[in-house]
Amino acid sequence: MIVCVHDSHFGIQKFKISLKDWIKLHLEVEGTSVYVFDARKQGWSGDLPFYIVKCGKHGYFLDYLHGFPGYNEGFDCPFCLKELSADEGFSSQ
Ligand SMILES: [Zn+2]
Repeated sequence: MIVCVHDSHFGIQKFKISLKDWIKLHLEVEGTSVYVFDARKQGWSGDLPFYIVKCGKHGYFLDYLHGFPGYNEGFDCPFCLKELSADEGFSSQ
C-alpha cells in the first residue's frame, strides 16, 4: 500500500508499506506509528529508526523519536509544532 506523508527530514512524499501496517495506521488512534527504515541525517553519528506517524489533525508525517528512551520520548507533528509557535508569537504581542 502507498501512504502519502509529510517528510521534513528527507523530502520523501510517498512510502510503500505492508497492508498490515497500512491498516494499523488507518484504524488505530492518533499517535500510532509504523516503522519504515533506519536512516542518518547530516551531522548524526549513527542511524536512527524512522516511523510514519498519524496526527489526528494533520494526517501522516515521517519522524524519529525525540527525547530519551523512557523520558520525554515521542514524535512531533511538524504542523502542530508550527501552530504552537505561531500561537506563542501571537500571544506575546
Ligand atoms: Zn499535527
